Amino acid sequence: MIQEKAEFKPEPVFEKMPAEKFLAELAAEVEKRPDAVFEKRGVIKYQTPEGGKTYDFVRIISNDIKPEDKILFIRAGLHGEEIAGPMTMRRHINEIIDYAHQSGLKVVIYPLANPSGFESGERFNIVNDQGGEGSEGTDDIIRYELSDGKIVDELEENQPFRQWFFPTAPRINARLPQEAALMQKELKELTQTGLLWEELTQRELEEAPPPPIVAAIDLHQDYITPDAPPSAYHYNHNDQVATEVYRKIVEKIEQELSIMRGAKISAGFKTSMKSDKYGFITRHDGSLIDAMYRLGAKHCIVVETTGATQLEKADEVNMLWIKGVIDLLIQAKGNEQLP
Ligand SMILES: [Zn+2]
Repeated sequence: MIQEKAEFKPEPVFEKMPAEKFLAELAAEVEKRPDAVFEKRGVIKYQTPEGGKTYDFVRIISNDIKPEDKILFIRAGLHGEEIAGPMTMRRHINEIIDYAHQSGLKVVIYPLANPSGFESGERFNIVNDQGGEGSEGTDDIIRYELSDGKIVDELEENQPFRQWFFPTAPRINARLPQEAALMQKELKELTQTGLLWEELTQRELEEAPPPPIVAAIDLHQDYITPDAPPSAYHYNHNDQVATEVYRKIVEKIEQELSIMRGAKISAGFKTSMKSDKYGFITRHDGSLIDAMYRLGAKHCIVVETTGATQLEKADEVNMLWIKGVIDLLIQAKGNEQLP
């Protein structure tokens, strides 16, 4: 039977769904594997007008991580309306773990950083809790103390600072939203188990070799920059790494989607910045991936595709980044082994 054109409705590519369903599907995939585990790391609880709601905060981690291993860290789903990251996790989790393991790398993945927001489609969480006084919201991970003692959550370009610290430190003692508090707990544990370095001074950071977690990728979409056409751009949180290093990845992305090269981008920041010729914005904004840089990770990337980008394309871009960074890490490994 020939279907009439007017009746044809394409299946939605991927939609928000109960977090429990998403996580159960992902768990079922990972539980088939002997080489990785799906772990519940914490519970997020909210009181809503409909009653109490709880959500699992989970991670997926390779088995048998040894001190000499190199690890790729991935986070998805911090902003609830940005479903491309969780979609990439749901569709490609096996492919990602396989690709990393075949390359001799391990993974630590937080596939749904804000489960209630994912479920509701809200940017923050189901009760829009962005923390108490002094909190900077769900991605409030580190703060900077400037040379005059002032404390800020983001640095201007090349702005010197005295030190950085977690916002739960006694001097601020901010009440963070549960999503940020749980992520900080994870960072502290990854530090204690030696997968990230202890808090380093800038000089130590520049001299230290990377810790086992050598790269960190955070998958986002940008629904904030007004009138942005379908396109991709990216953040580099390690200003010691020239963005030229990622040129091949950017060129592959550009075969699929235009890159915002040299564009003014303001998404979610107090001051807008111009992306460089590869589509990068380099800044220290106190976010998770900025914290990963301070804790020693070498490749610290936030992936952005604009909200006007088809989900399928956003998913492709996410995978080009994940596989591209793995390829870079293997190359680096190869070079280390040269005489
Ligand atoms: Zn985002």
